[in-house]
Amino acid sequence: MTATPTAGLTFPVTPSAVPVSEECRAEILAAPGFGKHFTDHMAVATWTVDAGWHDAAVVPYGPLQLDPAAAVLHYAQEVFEGLKAYRHADGSVWTFRPEANAARMARSARRLALPEVDEATFLEAITQLIRADEAWVPTGGESSLYLRPFMVATEAFLGVRAAREVKFLVIASPAGSYFPGGVKPVSIWLSQNYTRAAFGGTGSAKCGGNYAASLVAQTEAAEHGCDQVCFLDAGERKYVEELGGMNLYFVHDDGSIVTPELTGTILEGITRDSIVQLAKDLGHEVSERRVSIDEWREGVASGRITEVFACGTAAAVTPVGRLVSADGELVHGGGAAGEVTMAIRGKLLDLQYGRAEDTHGWLRRI
Ligand code: PMP
Repeated sequence: MTATPTAGLTFPVTPSAVPVSEECRAEILAAPGFGKHFTDHMAVATWTVDAGWHDAAVVPYGPLQLDPAAAVLHYAQEVFEGLKAYRHADGSVWTFRPEANAARMARSARRLALPEVDEATFLEAITQLIRADEAWVPTGGESSLYLRPFMVATEAFLGVRAAREVKFLVIASPAGSYFPGGVKPVSIWLSQNYTRAAFGGTGSAKCGGNYAASLVAQTEAAEHGCDQVCFLDAGERKYVEELGGMNLYFVHDDGSIVTPELTGTILEGITRDSIVQLAKDLGHEVSERRVSIDEWREGVASGRITEVFACGTAAAVTPVGRLVSADGELVHGGGAAGEVTMAIRGKLLDLQYGRAEDTHGWLRRI
């Protein structure tokens, strides 16, 4: 065992003896969907309170052996990340702002009383995994290899306290285009029965518990024929926070763009942050401030709000076509994708897929 509490770990690769056949992989990559298929390897490292991080490696993908008393199974001490590797036209493979994912995972870990993975170790884990599974990075369209770094408390102990044994893993899953038939606006259900996060809670941490708590609202959205759920603040139930898995943006008739400010209760999306910059590059004035549900409704009714879009790693930028709630329905832009939304979407994807110059230094070659 090599204990390395702070410095960047290396991830030696043990190749899988039984990788998925080339033929089978090609079949999967032709229509990967999302989150259904996994590559041949995974990255793993162990942390113990006495030895720090150690035993880092890329090993064949497979089930974990967990003690039934493992803390994560009882008290949900878990955090995760989501980012993608993109194949460019010349065949090279790149990640987009992975340092931001490393930083967010460290913040999430602190909130959940988990140990931090330093940036160098985080980047090395994803780099070695992508290199081992390079053949799994799809080509063409808006396909990508989705990476899921996560950390779980593995200590077998039923006392409620910060775990003394933890594992960090990265798994990878090929992802097809989010909109294979062309960009289609999503419909949103406004949750008035459930909230996502309160001040002092875990809203800005990417932890599994937040998503478990959102599922009943997501189910309610589906029952009302909506794709996504929108949460309001947990205090006054007045301000727009975010969707179950995406941040929101509002486009105004004067070309200015507004996104709900980071109050500690919403996830600090990396796509959201990138759009603050990219929209400025496109000449838009961008502000981060609280947006009330009344402002949303009145803005659409008066024509002041011309477009609404959601953003996140999975879909990049998604036009919002309808907002549905117990009080009625609001249609945006005749339900079609707006011009500004599509321009920002194009700018982001051109950058991620290497079709535009990386003026902000956001791409990292694998
Ligand atoms: N909000 C929530 C609740 C999310 O789960 C996600 C996806 N990670 C986002 C926003 C968007 O974040 P990002 O742009 O980093 O994917």
